[in-house]
Amino acid sequence: MAIERTFSILKPDATRRNLTGKINAVFEEAGLRIVAQKRIHMTRAQAEAFYGVHKERGFFNDLVSFMISGPVVVQVLEGENAVAKHRDVMGATNPANAAEGTVRKLFAESIEANSVHGSDSLENAAIEIAYFFAGTEIVG
Ligand code: UDP
Repeated sequence: MAIERTFSILKPDATRRNLTGKINAVFEEAGLRIVAQKRIHMTRAQAEAFYGVHKERGFFNDLVSFMISGPVVVQVLEGENAVAKHRDVMGATNPANAAEGTVRKLFAESIEANSVHGSDSLENAAIEIAYFFAGTEIVG
């Protein structure tokens, strides 16, 4: 299986409740390695551009407001089949539908405040990583 890199965000509900270590422990135990990481407070423009694919959706404005309501941790995770593995360990978007043991089942507050973001394809992972990190900030 191929070694991949994917993009991950620990969302404001996770930083507010001091859960970043517990969530990253789940990722690390699943075989994902954190090869880049920083804590930032996104601007509205950054969050709007990041979630631009959803701009016609009814939840867009609330989502952007939530994403800038506090600091986030942006990170790059590396491992075998990292994109799909990360999505599996995150669990379903709505925590009510998330499988036992997944991050969203364990920690999410709601469909919006669902603790984590993860790239949904290898192509989007590359775009999202480049949006937040310079190549020199990623140390494998
Ligand atoms: N979201 C929301 N309401 C919805 C669907 C999604 O607030 O009905 C938020 C939620 O935070 C989700 C993000 O928008 O993580 C992006 O949605 P997507 O469908 O891409 O879900 P994901 O890939 O994060 O599981």
